[in-house]
Amino acid sequence: MPRNRRGSNDFRYTGADRCTGCQQRAVIPSEVDADRFVAKAEGRLRKQRCPHGNGWHLINPEYQRHRRARR
Ligand SMILES: [Zn+2]
Repeated sequence: MPRNRRGSNDFRYTGADRCTGCQQRAVIPSEVDADRFVAKAEGRLRKQRCPHGNGWHLINPEYQRHRRARR
């Protein structure tokens, strides 16, 4: 579980809107926040601009590779 820093005004991933066009991915409204998550994840996540115009999403390349391999 990620540690929560109290008193921070950071965008909260768990409270994010979900994008119906992108398999309910969490919507990150600004690129700055997306970058922050990528930095926190130390390269395990990547940002991706929503093709439906709903801001940014985070994708986990390893997880996706995993899912594909299980088919
Ligand atoms: Zn989307």
